Amino acid sequence: MQKLEMLYEGKAKRVYKTDVDQEYIVDYKDDATALNGLKKGTITDKGIMNNTISSILFEMLEGKGIKTHFIKKLSDREMLVKKVTIVPLEVLVRNYAAGSLSKRYGIPEGTKMDNTILEFCYKNDELGDPFINEYHIRAMKLAEEKDIRTIENAALRINEILIAFMKEIGIDLVDFKLEFGRTPEGEIILADEISPDTCRLWDAETHEKLDKDRFRRDMGKVEEGYMEVVRRICEK
Ligand code: UDP
Repeated sequence: MQKLEMLYEGKAKRVYKTDVDQEYIVDYKDDATALNGLKKGTITDKGIMNNTISSILFEMLEGKGIKTHFIKKLSDREMLVKKVTIVPLEVLVRNYAAGSLSKRYGIPEGTKMDNTILEFCYKNDELGDPFINEYHIRAMKLAEEKDIRTIENAALRINEILIAFMKEIGIDLVDFKLEFGRTPEGEIILADEISPDTCRLWDAETHEKLDKDRFRRDMGKVEEGYMEVVRRICEK
């Protein structure tokens, strides 16, 4: 497998072509951003930790019948993935109120939601990833009705699997963000990453935050939070 030219550089990852037509390499960086790119920094070895966590979670999800872009972990910071075109939606799944949901509706952080909340944002940095609903999604031709249903069902199933997985390692899955991609054959599969950058993970006993909120909110011990997630997942 040969790593060829870089196709895309995002805030936390770089994507490279390979000598295999349908396979890309994702390279995880230590760069961290928050507040729509306003806050910038680095989290030491974040790329290594997020690649480790994402690889384990994607493999676990595949084992439970979820189709993902993950093929295999290649190195500390690299994973091999299937080529997809990202559907420009951020799919937010929430079990407890936190972050922007708490702000918007005045619900105290940590309040358990009676039902899982699913939200969509339009993935567009210039616009600041604004909230979007199904009517907008269809009107803007971001996804068809049947694709929205596929994404919705997959997100809810992934939530069930992740809640159970995290519970076993003493973590409450507060909320998380997913992205989906379309294969050249038109199939919608899970893409991007699942890591403390994209999930809120709270210790089930102490409610200590083990995720990117430590960076966003200048809480300190950011690396330690990520490392604790790695440790618990790897010991499982
Ligand atoms: N999230 C993300 N990328 C984004 C926006 C949100 O990974 O661009 C994740 C975030 O880490 C959290 C969940 O989605 O786990 C819900 O985020 P929220 O809407 O509360 O946004 P925030 O408070 O981070 O602005």
